[in-house]
Amino acid sequence: MKDEKEQLLEARAVDLMARAARVLPSTDTSVLDSKLGPSDSCYSVRDVVNLFRRGASEEDLIHLSECESCRVWINSYAQRPSAFWGKSERKGLFKGVAALLGIGVTQPEPQPALLHVCKAAISINDLNRPMEFAVLTGTFDDVDIVSLRMDGALLAEDGSLQKQALFGDICYPVIRFNSVKLADKVREDIGRHVALTDRISISGSFTDKTQRAFRGHAHVRVVSDAAIIPNDQCH
Ligand SMILES: [Zn+2]
Repeated sequence: MKDEKEQLLEARAVDLMARAARVLPSTDTSVLDSKLGPSDSCYSVRDVVNLFRRGASEEDLIHLSECESCRVWINSYAQRPSAFWGKSERKGLFKGVAALLGIGVTQPEPQPALLHVCKAAISINDLNRPMEFAVLTGTFDDVDIVSLRMDGALLAEDGSLQKQALFGDICYPVIRFNSVKLADKVREDIGRHVALTDRISISGSFTDKTQRAFRGHAHVRVVSDAAIIPNDQCH
């Protein structure tokens, strides 16, 4: 059973695919797997969807800093309103209640954000050290700092935001959480493993009165041995 986030991502993929089909020459390669940029290391539609699911690696960050084509595609993907929410909002009980109240109920759609985890591993003995996440899509100038949250495998609320040049001249917003907590399930699981990889999501809202919000995902590695953790800053 696909969860809501997966359905949302798939709806976006269909959107992206439809546009890719219009601009790509017809070849034997599936439209899903055709490169969207000029080089072999450029992303396909499938790659873009997966990037937003798992977060961007260091290699992705370097490619995106150097490749304008792929940057345009991921920013376009992040800004495109989803067909999924539009349809789901009008379904069943939700539709009935909205009609009864005579209001147009709308669910603010979280804008997908592409995250890069500056340090993708954290020790369970060192949870009070800062974790940083670069946001590779959008400007985030008007983010409400108080609204920043980390959920999933790790939990955090004390977020702050700064701009940082990570590669070349491109400055990215970097969200920093000064300390994190382990989710209960991860705390139980890590007792039986040396390390585990799980997903986190970071969300927040904007202060521009449009009720806009964002949500991005990334994989983090939780380890039980502090000795194998490298530095924790974004460069
Ligand atoms: Zn590229």
